[in-house]
Amino acid sequence: MAVLPIAKVGNPILRKQSTPIDVDTIGSRAFQTFLDDMFETMVENDGIGLAAPQVARSTQVVVMECGGDNGFPKTVLINPKILFYGPQQTEMWEGCLSIDNLRGQVTRPSMIRVQALDQHGVLQEWEASGLYGVCIQHEMDHLLGKLFIDRMTDMSTLTQLQEFDTYWKDESTQEV
Ligand code: ZN
Repeated sequence: MAVLPIAKVGNPILRKQSTPIDVDTIGSRAFQTFLDDMFETMVENDGIGLAAPQVARSTQVVVMECGGDNGFPKTVLINPKILFYGPQQTEMWEGCLSIDNLRGQVTRPSMIRVQALDQHGVLQEWEASGLYGVCIQHEMDHLLGKLFIDRMTDMSTLTQLQEFDTYWKDESTQEV
């Protein structure tokens, strides 16, 4: 396994629409190693989600995992689609491994129904809400060339981490 370099904002690959994975390649050793490398890269950087364009591969692959009470299970999304957005909205703090040291509040649908191939190439469909649902939407935005800063409705909440700790951390909003 290997920790891969992370593309940072300004790298044009983060702004490209990514291409679907050929299902026949999912079982290959090269692809499975790539998934392992993505997980290792995510954990090494203290992330809870990582999309392939962030490691300079313009393909439709996402890995996610978050421990703790608000966490969610280890998840692989290949060629994902959102089938349904719930009617309620939720506002959370988002950050991104491709945008160092910044956070901002983003409002998104609080529940989604998602369909994706898993790490074995099996089609799965499930509902996700709260932190899990927001994280899926954030990571799937990467596959469209979108970043969380594009989704912010109030740019006045954009904050560097040291100012977040001083001015915002008592806010009762969750963070992704
Ligand atoms: Zn991100």
